[in-house]
Amino acid sequence: AMEGAAAPEATGAVRYEDLGGLSRVVERIREVVELPLRHRDAFARLGISPPRGVLLVGPPGTGKTLIARAVATESRAAFIAVNGPEIMDRYYGASEGALRSVFERARKEAPAIIFIDELDAIAPRRDGLSGEKQVEKRIVAQLLTLMDGLGGRGDVVVLAATNLADSLDPALRRPGRFDREIRVDPPDEQGRREILGVHTRAMPLGGDVDLGVLAGLTAGYVGADLAALCREAAIAALRRAGALEAAEIAPGLAVTQADFAEALAGIVP
Ligand code: ATP
Repeated sequence: AMEGAAAPEATGAVRYEDLGGLSRVVERIREVVELPLRHRDAFARLGISPPRGVLLVGPPGTGKTLIARAVATESRAAFIAVNGPEIMDRYYGASEGALRSVFERARKEAPAIIFIDELDAIAPRRDGLSGEKQVEKRIVAQLLTLMDGLGGRGDVVVLAATNLADSLDPALRRPGRFDREIRVDPPDEQGRREILGVHTRAMPLGGDVDLGVLAGLTAGYVGADLAALCREAAIAALRRAGALEAAEIAPGLAVTQADFAEALAGIVP
């Protein structure tokens, strides 16, 4: 029964229902990304241009990647992920080429969402860069060229995640580039309750488990912490059942509040 406890995204496509505590973010991203992808012709008729770039700004582990994957699923768009530091970690000149092929692929698979995680790694403010950071200058320039090249077709949208919008090259924030910004804040108590709900959805829970109480005990935890907490609680339940020695696990095994308490002690947000 524990197998059902896999994180939602591990089992395939991420949906909006897999996001906890992000209803306002989802509302906004649906208007800014899903709507134009699904109704390109209506946008054209209304004479407004679809967005090319949308920034997701917030601390690590709050679900930015998850949001990008969910909006791709729900918009029936291809999802093409680029990791900022990974792109940088190429031999001379290869980073630009890698970016170009990502955009090429997106155009072929359109409608498509390109997701750039840790955008600040490839596009930091250029003014403060010393000589050895010439690489970044070239890559920012390449990214800008590729985004400008998307034109007004609206079938490719670039989503990018960053912790700090202020650390980005301001050229990226101009109209037609990353001109929309959506803040993704750490969850409040209600949000944490929802995230715990998502990550225990497929978990057999003991009758004493109170997710509301757990939400109250986890101030400062972000989604990634809460996902880890649920995983650890399930492992604590297996441990309690003597899983390592046992030939098989009782089918009725459930995760209890005490398992969560044990997991809580081990996870520092
Ligand atoms: P980073 O900036 O570190 O990449 P991120 O904001 O992109 O972080 P994700 O990678 O999306 O965060 O989140 C990590 C994991 O934490 C997710 O795969 C998911 O299991 C869980 N998670 C994070 N936020 C949420 C949320 N709001 N609802 C449900 N699960 C979440």
